Amino acid sequence: METASSSSLIEKAQAICLQIHPWSKTSHIVTWLTPGFGKVTTVVKGACRAKSAFLGQYDLAYTCELLFYRREREGVHAIRECWPVCMREPLRLSWRASSLAAYLCGLTARSTVGAQESGGVFRLLSTALDALAEEKPQDWLGFLLWYETHLLRLIGFMPDLTLCPICHTEEHPWFRFSLPSGRFVCEHQSGRGTERPDNMVQLHQGVRKLLIRMGNASAPFPIADPDSVRTGLIRFLGIFYRFHLDLPLSERNVMLELLQG
Ligand SMILES: [Zn+2]
Repeated sequence: METASSSSLIEKAQAICLQIHPWSKTSHIVTWLTPGFGKVTTVVKGACRAKSAFLGQYDLAYTCELLFYRREREGVHAIRECWPVCMREPLRLSWRASSLAAYLCGLTARSTVGAQESGGVFRLLSTALDALAEEKPQDWLGFLLWYETHLLRLIGFMPDLTLCPICHTEEHPWFRFSLPSGRFVCEHQSGRGTERPDNMVQLHQGVRKLLIRMGNASAPFPIADPDSVRTGLIRFLGIFYRFHLDLPLSERNVMLELLQG
């Protein structure tokens, strides 16, 4: 049993297990996503000991009932107890589904913060993990891009895809997108050359339209667009995540290769 300081409050929450890292020889640091407290990191002392009460009680992509001592300040909280309420066992039978589930959990861990209401992200991740456990997606890559788009929307980073009727016309299918401002460059208002070139990406009309469809879709769908549009969206979301959330592209590239292989 963990001891808690007098400034801790005991809390109970549904929690999705996002990451498990070893800590000392026998302990784990476990990162969770809860609807009410956002991302919660707990230390599970003695997790790997044969007689630990935590054995089999949590694993990646499980939803658990979590009891923990919440500290006033952010940081690592002490866990009191947890038990699984949804184990999503079929995920373990498919390497592709389990890899994608781990990727979505890791991406969510990097993109969320503690002490913040996160009910929307919690529901998104639950729905996505349930779907992966229940049946094979028709389009694995479409599934990943759908999740990345909705995660951006829910954490308040959705790109603004509004066009300017003067600068962005049908004759020019490529538009300049500014990463820092998260919107297309409007040249008749901001003037040319005010943005650093490395903060810009060129986005094709078709990619913009696909991203809008992704953002409006309540469930993943198979992408029927040409390969160039699909590739354009893969690239754009990768660049956008790296710019705003400092997400390393290497992990994502490995995932993309696995899904397309
Ligand atoms: Zn304009």
